[in-house]
Amino acid sequence: MSDCLPCRMEEADPDAVVFRDDLWACEVVPGFDVPGWFVLRVRRHALRIGALTDAELATYGRRARDLVGAVTEVTGAPATYVLTFGEANPHFHSLVAARGEEVPPERRMAGILTQREDRLDPAGALAMVPTVAAVYARLSGSDVLRAGTSS
Ligand SMILES: [Zn+2]
Repeated sequence: MSDCLPCRMEEADPDAVVFRDDLWACEVVPGFDVPGWFVLRVRRHALRIGALTDAELATYGRRARDLVGAVTEVTGAPATYVLTFGEANPHFHSLVAARGEEVPPERRMAGILTQREDRLDPAGALAMVPTVAAVYARLSGSDVLRAGTSS
């Protein structure tokens, strides 16, 4: 098994998958499973943004936009963040994190990651997947289907 967490998400439980297409996938990731947090990742092992192909670069923006739109619509969050550090897990990915009204000022923006300390809720995070997946599918206007579903 790969020691790369984003690569290992290819074997994620279908219940954790918001969408997958040829180039991109979005899942709820163990260890980051705060309700309203989703990881958008390139499906091959590409190190950081500099390793993305033209096709990946051309499609990333729309995937990020539609995912932010879906997460914002479902959570009602006043802000939804897109975070990319390229350090701990340099396989290119972005954490899309709803920042709810209840998050205090000192935990907003870069402080959002402190929510891993006390807001991990795997069941609550997974419970949002079907709704976010449905809204994402509508916003993207594509025929992208959630892995493991048939419709
Ligand atoms: Zn990887």
